[in-house]
Amino acid sequence: MIRVDRDAVTKPGVFEPGGAAENERRAAHVHFQAKSTSEEDSKFNFKAYKEPEIKAALLRLFHGKCAYCESRFSATQPMDVEHWRPKSVYWWLAATWDNLLPSCSDCNRKRAQVVLGFRTDDLEKPKTRKGRPEETWLTGKAASFPLAHDSQRATRPDEESREQPLLLDPCTDDPDEHLEFLPLTDFEQVAASRGPGRRRPMFALGVVRARRTATGQDPKALASINVYGLNRSGLVQARAERRLLIQRTMHTLVVLARLLQEFVSEDSDWRLVGLVEDLISHEMTGLARFMRPDQPFAALAGQIIKPFIEEITAIETDPG
Ligand SMILES: [Zn+2]
Repeated sequence: MIRVDRDAVTKPGVFEPGGAAENERRAAHVHFQAKSTSEEDSKFNFKAYKEPEIKAALLRLFHGKCAYCESRFSATQPMDVEHWRPKSVYWWLAATWDNLLPSCSDCNRKRAQVVLGFRTDDLEKPKTRKGRPEETWLTGKAASFPLAHDSQRATRPDEESREQPLLLDPCTDDPDEHLEFLPLTDFEQVAASRGPGRRRPMFALGVVRARRTATGQDPKALASINVYGLNRSGLVQARAERRLLIQRTMHTLVVLARLLQEFVSEDSDWRLVGLVEDLISHEMTGLARFMRPDQPFAALAGQIIKPFIEEITAIETDPG
């Protein structure tokens, strides 16, 4: 998950005063005042959020990626317009721009998924079915919206300011402060703990975990990983593959930086120096590209690449 500034796109016209969103909210207000939300017949047909211009704005804002897992869904699936605070509970936020996010189906819809990683204790088991692997859990947000204190849950408009949501919102939180991808040193430990001769668990390169806080693990990160299903196997695998690509580029750069150090001397062949410099610049551009917000898993890329760039710049400028 990567921080996104909602002001980067123009708010869709649907949300203008007197527009479709306001009209629908007014109608919903009348509807829900007349009935208790727990009544069976209290369903309201929300549709303003389905306006094509909202979808288009969310696609632009998130570059065709899921707001939660950063997969590029635009290649293979339609986008779900997702209500961060679920519309089934917070009816007054069903057509509110700040409450809408683009999501892939796997983050949005609750279903059985194989989950990899290290923490699944808050997850619900799906109904057992023959042949289902042990690590199968129910993930996907659906209408979940966990709070630090459930007693503070809003029941009417404007009460939501008293809530302390446990889920990360990429438009108001900085996910980087909460979520952490496994550092390489920890990966080596995981690999070593498997014992000699065993295959290295490459999937661990794609696992995300909660950052440590003074009192344990970051609670928002834990809830978000579980509710959005950020360690479901297909996603972890896709992130691990991305990371291997990034690590390969970083390895090439380290070798090139060392070569450059060898070459830069009084009697260097300046043509060779030029070639190495050209390659370094080419690979650096490629590396920076992984961190662009329009790239899948840019949060993972940033966490690995930023410290690396500091290191490699030190090698390049070190006179040896
Ligand atoms: Zn997703």
